[in-house]
Amino acid sequence: MEKRYDIIIIGAGPAGMTAGIYAQRAGMKCLTLEKMTVGGQIVLTPHIENYPGYKLISGTELSEKMFEQDKSFGMDFEYAEAHKIETQGNIKKVKAGDVTYSAPAIILSMGAFSRSLGVEGDKNYIGKGVSYCATCDGAFFRNKVVAVVGGGNTALEDIEYLSSLAKKVIHINRRSEFRADNVNIQSYNKLAKEKDSKIEAYLGYVVEKLNGEDRLESVDIKNLETNKKETIKLDGLFVAIGRVPQTEILDRELKLDDAGYILVNEKMETSIEGIYACGDITHKMLRQIATATGDGSIAGTSASIYVKKLK
Ligand code: NAP
Repeated sequence: MEKRYDIIIIGAGPAGMTAGIYAQRAGMKCLTLEKMTVGGQIVLTPHIENYPGYKLISGTELSEKMFEQDKSFGMDFEYAEAHKIETQGNIKKVKAGDVTYSAPAIILSMGAFSRSLGVEGDKNYIGKGVSYCATCDGAFFRNKVVAVVGGGNTALEDIEYLSSLAKKVIHINRRSEFRADNVNIQSYNKLAKEKDSKIEAYLGYVVEKLNGEDRLESVDIKNLETNKKETIKLDGLFVAIGRVPQTEILDRELKLDDAGYILVNEKMETSIEGIYACGDITHKMLRQIATATGDGSIAGTSASIYVKKLK
């Protein structure tokens, strides 16, 4: 069975949902495919205070509002994982489960998934002490010893959140400088300097191995300058070392940057005609909700203009 649309949007994060709002308002018949959760990564963020119009809002609430708005313009939503995109001239076919959807234009807004440590024992302890989401799993570690790996915004926000729950928060980062925004670095420094701070920092260290019987019990870490190794006992490890874009479902190669993000022009056009990309999956200097929605509005508009020209 094949279902035809004008535009198929893959991924219902802020970028994809904004693209949907613009494309529906431009009169397009659109479908959004989402494999997991509407909102994408933002549902993991409890406090958003840098999205204009809301002084403070949770990621879940903001994504629900975007979803309602998108649906109110007539968007078709399917919870299904797009596992293949075939580009056949003007028509692109998207396979999701047993169903094939086709459209002249596709908007890729699948975002990126959490990067894993890639060390021994890494995969064995997921859900058994290793987590990629502090806001989802932090409560399981109340009054326990946890570690957070990374020095970006996610890691520093996770440390702040876990400090309110855990007995101790060990911070492991490969550099002594942090990639996070100033505002997060300032909050971290303030928290770390408190008299009874729960933060114990290992800066200039990497995790080399995860150990434990049924559950994670300790990690082996190494100082990158001295090569000195240590084993730290802990109950939980939160990995926050960035994200990897999801671009592997296309049958043709898109132009990507060195890190694997999709290269787009100012119209959000990719290197393949009729395929647009927006949000965290693209090469950009700032991955934020505000920039994702900006990208989405352009992708939705450009794809609509393209489809109208074909008609
Ligand atoms: P990120 O900014 O890419 O930071 C990744 C961190 O992990 C860096 O400290 C990096 O170190 C380290 N790292 C990367 N690969 C590693 C490896 N293999 N082993 C050990 N450490 C490694 O990732 P993120 O914090 O998840 O943020 C992703 C995007 O979302 C960013 O654009 C961020 O600004 C945005 N975000 C924003 C907010 C907010 O505004 N409130 C909240 C969360 C995320 P190096 O610095 O040495 O490379």
